[in-house]
Amino acid sequence: MKFIKQTIDDTPMKDNVFAVAKLAKAAVEKVGAENIVNATIGSLYTEAGVIAAFDTVYNAYDKISKEDKAQYSQSITGNQDYKETVYKWIKGDTKLALPYQVIATPGGSGAIALTMMNFLDSHMKVLLPDLAWSSYKTMAKNNNLEIVNYKMFKDNHFDIDSFVLESTEIMKQQGKLMVIINDPSHNPSGYSMSIDEWQKVITQLNLLSKTGPCILVNDIAYIDYCLDLKHSRDYLNLFNTISDNVAIIVAFSCSKTLTSYGMRLGAALVMAQNESLVDQIKNIFENCARSTWSNVNNGWMDNFVEVMTNDQTAFLAEKQHYIDLLKQRSELFLSEAKKVNLPVFPYKEGFFITVKIDNDKVCSAYHQALIDNNIFAVKLNQGIRIAICSVPLIKVQGLAIRMKKIYDDLEK
Ligand code: PLP
Repeated sequence: MKFIKQTIDDTPMKDNVFAVAKLAKAAVEKVGAENIVNATIGSLYTEAGVIAAFDTVYNAYDKISKEDKAQYSQSITGNQDYKETVYKWIKGDTKLALPYQVIATPGGSGAIALTMMNFLDSHMKVLLPDLAWSSYKTMAKNNNLEIVNYKMFKDNHFDIDSFVLESTEIMKQQGKLMVIINDPSHNPSGYSMSIDEWQKVITQLNLLSKTGPCILVNDIAYIDYCLDLKHSRDYLNLFNTISDNVAIIVAFSCSKTLTSYGMRLGAALVMAQNESLVDQIKNIFENCARSTWSNVNNGWMDNFVEVMTNDQTAFLAEKQHYIDLLKQRSELFLSEAKKVNLPVFPYKEGFFITVKIDNDKVCSAYHQALIDNNIFAVKLNQGIRIAICSVPLIKVQGLAIRMKKIYDDLEK
């Protein structure tokens, strides 16, 4: 008999990001920071090479009393004003009108973990894109779920045919579907779906929901760095048209929105046509929260409310500076990539650009060759992820050209 559960996955975690980040750190000590490109870190960095921590956010936090910071939150699902502010923030100018509940979580990860733990029974299949944030896979495995991938892209657009094919097959096999869509500003490609693509997804879920329950998890971790912020939430209006047998969980993260990765705050926004279904999901999420992390960062919930209620204009202006910076960095990288024919996945906005390499062996060799040339990035199953969020313009300059040359040398 094993000490640990029979069904638990005990293989050591292979975190592609932290492992390469460690190598980058060692290289800094060896050859100096100016001689390396560290494109591993998925946090916003300034042009001076330090992590961005918004003044509007941290000055407000400094005004919160230590007693407030010390306290537990008002309830397991979070403070009432936090939940109301999160809903308003996500809804924006949309006409979202579904019954809803908000559950505060430790980051967007907490919200996604709640869905992985509570909707599917062991050995059921969860539908993920073939190009995705690696934590989804870890969470699925940790909950004994099997993974089915739909192809993310066809001809540089969302591959709706693959989505329809795989989701239909899963519904046929297990009578229930759970799917994760990380949009807008998808990690790792930087793609954002069009309204038309979203419409097709909702149509497919409504169709399948005639056979069984459909759960859509919409991970919006990067939504607040869209180039066209005013229209970044337009697709949410389509959620009003879901059928009774569809539930939506929007996973919201304060990590990127507030530059507060370490403060561990986010939320699960649960929506469905039927109020009793929303309440049922809220109840299971509340029980699950109580039995895992209990409750979340009280001072940071208060800070979110304070910034969004009393200092939103200044906060938006400060955040805009970084949206503009991401635009400059991405345009520079992409224009050089185009010039030298370095293939990338379709990027629109956000923290990451991914160089496309479809042969995994070549991809591994290329990744190592980049490291040998002091370019540190994250290897994925279909390419190399460049975190432009953390690379200053001076180091983005010429990067795509160097990367192409290293690739060509490898081919020789
Ligand atoms: N979703 C995606 C796609 C991410 O890249 C991340 C963070 O890297 C998250 C969710 C969640 O982050 P956190 O748990 O810090 O909110």
